[in-house]
Amino acid sequence: MTASVDRLRPGAPGTWRVLALPYAMRMGERGQHFLGHDSRSTEPHPTAYYVWLAVSDKDVVLVDAGIGPSRAAAVPGLQYSGSPVELLASLGVRPEDVGWSVLTHLHYDHTGTVADLPAATYVVQRAEWEYWTGPWAQRITRERWLCAPEDLEHLARAAEDGRRRDVDGDVELLPGLSVHHVGGHTAGMQVVRVRTGKGHVVLASDASHFYENLTADRPPPILHSVPQVHGAFDRITQLADAAELIVPGHDPGVVQRHPAEPADPAGRAVRIA
Ligand SMILES: [Zn+2]
Repeated sequence: MTASVDRLRPGAPGTWRVLALPYAMRMGERGQHFLGHDSRSTEPHPTAYYVWLAVSDKDVVLVDAGIGPSRAAAVPGLQYSGSPVELLASLGVRPEDVGWSVLTHLHYDHTGTVADLPAATYVVQRAEWEYWTGPWAQRITRERWLCAPEDLEHLARAAEDGRRRDVDGDVELLPGLSVHHVGGHTAGMQVVRVRTGKGHVVLASDASHFYENLTADRPPPILHSVPQVHGAFDRITQLADAAELIVPGHDPGVVQRHPAEPADPAGRAVRIA
């Protein structure tokens, strides 16, 4: 029998299975990841890159879309282990199985495989869409490189085809899975809350790149609003049923804190719940 997404369905009705799928690594410095220069700013600080998969008895939701192969080749120092779509395939998840693609924000490392998901409805906060397609993003040099025009074009066409859902604020997308606008890192940054057998998981994505952003109350240097970053930290903490159920966006520690997913023959995916 070939692998299928059914192997990932959760055991308990009304709950979701949640996986983190790491697909790349890059060595950086602490100063690239924490706002404000300090004596540790030049210390090495690795970044991991993930997409997240949530599966219920009916639905398959991919949270963020990672970096595609062509862009990956252009990111300095990126150790790329393959497209997130290939990682999904190794788990038995075909691109057409993905019914929903929740985009936490529209930075290039979160939208790179949107064009590879033929059946997905994309979910984005209206404030995020309007920011990246509005006047400011193109004028602000430190922002411009962070989005991928070809991904935005795909998402624009998806809207014309009725395959993009723009949301405002907090929305329950499916029973037990909701999105929450927190802002901060970007204008329309959203986090995803998922009901699981262990309680409510919060996929914080870049609302907290690392565990340390949240625990030390330290914003990242790439941001839209400092007060909203701190507000996002508070909101994430409120929305999660336990600290260990908060999943940061780029922390290599996620794969150390959670067990390997038994359904992944490659041994890369971890099971959050
Ligand atoms: Zn980001």
